[in-house]
Amino acid sequence: MTLTDHTHDPEAQSWVPSANAADADFPLQNLPYGLFRRAGSQQDWRVGVAIGDQILDLRHAAQAGCWSSDTLVLLQPLAEGDLNRFMALPQEKRRALRLALFDALHADSGLDAELSGCLLPQSEAEMAVPCRIADYTDFYTGIHHATTVGKLFRPDNPLLPNYKWVPIGYHGRSSSIGVSGGTVRRPLGQLKAPDAEVPVFGPCKRLDYELELGLFVAGGNALGEPIPMAEAEQHMFGLSLLNDWSARDLQAWEYQPLGPFLAKNFASTISPWIVTMEALEPFRLPFTRPEGDPQPLPYLDSPANRAGGNYGIELEVWLQTAQMRAAGQPAVCLMRSNFKYAYWTLAQMLTHHASNGCNLQPGDLLGTGTQSGPEAGEGGSLLELSLGGKQSITLPNGETRTFLQDGDSVILRGFAQAKGARRIGFGDCAATVVAAP
Ligand code: MN
Repeated sequence: MTLTDHTHDPEAQSWVPSANAADADFPLQNLPYGLFRRAGSQQDWRVGVAIGDQILDLRHAAQAGCWSSDTLVLLQPLAEGDLNRFMALPQEKRRALRLALFDALHADSGLDAELSGCLLPQSEAEMAVPCRIADYTDFYTGIHHATTVGKLFRPDNPLLPNYKWVPIGYHGRSSSIGVSGGTVRRPLGQLKAPDAEVPVFGPCKRLDYELELGLFVAGGNALGEPIPMAEAEQHMFGLSLLNDWSARDLQAWEYQPLGPFLAKNFASTISPWIVTMEALEPFRLPFTRPEGDPQPLPYLDSPANRAGGNYGIELEVWLQTAQMRAAGQPAVCLMRSNFKYAYWTLAQMLTHHASNGCNLQPGDLLGTGTQSGPEAGEGGSLLELSLGGKQSITLPNGETRTFLQDGDSVILRGFAQAKGARRIGFGDCAATVVAAP
């Protein structure tokens, strides 16, 4: 089922001039939601929509006289700064507000005089985590990542036999999720070198990033009531970029037998804007399995998932070291990949998560796992790019890296483009490493 409509018209322009730039992440066709306030102010956090290099303040905009009564009802939770309450609305209501916002911000709306006072430049805003994230689960859908990392941890047995049957995941921790633009403190933890007799406690020496997308849950499900594949997409609100910071030395020592724990839960960073599933509609791709691989079990299969459950989203990792920053050198791109290589779709992640009756809630975050491409230079973590720390990467200024050093800024970027569609982007997911306490 395709849900494209006039909000996906690639020719549509906005009365906000910066939205019409060819390389804008936030053209009229995107309209992602975020939580912001004027930088340095003590304002209440408010929900806004990114348009070009501006933010439409929905608290302010809801007071304008240009909305229908139906639209005003939809704007109400957003005007109150409560994105979760809006996320929980049925898909057709969320879509109805997208249509209303698109029409209001369209170049022909005649509303520029009325609404331009509701804009704040993004450069004058500070952003917060966009909604209450009650629970965070991280999946492992990047099969190229799973294979490469599996080889490093278990050379004889890289991909465990459950991988092609079960969407593998673990429960993460939502309390340490932060928004782009901040710092991440190098964690302390137990480290044991392979040849050491006993572990020591100290600063992580193998700090890494992971290039992921995060899926925000829309309406939840009651405890004990699974979400069938046919209904999964109604429970999907949108995507942001997600950096699942990882302490590889802590991880290697602690991960068996129960999986990731302190190696992962010290920090996760998300991009501030949630790009809605409606905006991503033109970038659907068929879901297929490689020749010879098992087909998903029936509860993870549906005609709609096969036809268009996959999404083409270009993903990149950029690095700027402290030395580069001091010399005024821009960040350098370390790799590029695409979400289309994921082994499981977003709908399969969500349906699998609820398949035992586990209840998801509006605003829950499901990480996709590291999205590496099939080629050697397309690893979505330094663990992959440095072959487990054995081969250092040389940066253009001559510095080398196997893992992250204090002062390094990691920037994730993502965008979607397709023939006949306007390119849309995610904005930056950036954070800088600071020294251990
Ligand atoms: Mn991860």
